Amino acid sequence: MTLEEAESQIPYKTTKELLKIADDYINRINEMKKLNDEYKNLPEQHKNWNLGKNFVPGEGPLNAEVMIVGQAPGRNEDEQRRPFVGMAGQLLNEMLKKAKLKRDDVYITSIVQFFPPLNRAPTEDEISYCKPFLIRQMEIIKPKFVVLLGNIPSQSILGIGNVMKNHGSIIESREFNCKFFITIHPAAAVRIKKNISIIKEDFEKLGILIKQKNE
Ligand code: URA
Repeated sequence: MTLEEAESQIPYKTTKELLKIADDYINRINEMKKLNDEYKNLPEQHKNWNLGKNFVPGEGPLNAEVMIVGQAPGRNEDEQRRPFVGMAGQLLNEMLKKAKLKRDDVYITSIVQFFPPLNRAPTEDEISYCKPFLIRQMEIIKPKFVVLLGNIPSQSILGIGNVMKNHGSIIESREFNCKFFITIHPAAAVRIKKNISIIKEDFEKLGILIKQKNE
């Protein structure tokens, strides 16, 4: 039955509210499915496609308050078709705990959702094909906080590079109706040990900012 028909059969206000939430969530599932179906066909549409062909979909609740945006999947992610399941993913899981967040409660994705062979950085062209899909994902999920991991997502979305200088800061965005939080990419902390304390402090700060917003 339609939402209106279901509403007319339910006498309790709270149950009606529940139905609205369920209906909203079902719409998000449908929109995300449509988007992912389009996104995964991208390799067929570009003659000189140089990324892997396995689509690595974002993962997490479609009404998550916090969205995490990385650079691009690595080899493990490409094989398992899941974001952040390799070493950087393990560190990200630890960092989420520092922010008092559960991995299952956040939406995790990357600005490019196909593996750049040899783990190279995605090119500007590749980012420009993929970025509109990320923007649409944000429009579906409507997160309150978007965590940008490293220079590439930060530069491509906000035009802010130099993460080593700008990490740990919140950028309010009217355009996206959310707060962006910039930090370093966990892979950079796996590679360079002195970055671990930086990313740890950033995620602790993120946890405090999220808590303050919800008080
Ligand atoms: N690094 C990213 O930026 N994204 C992933 O999905 C995995 C590793």
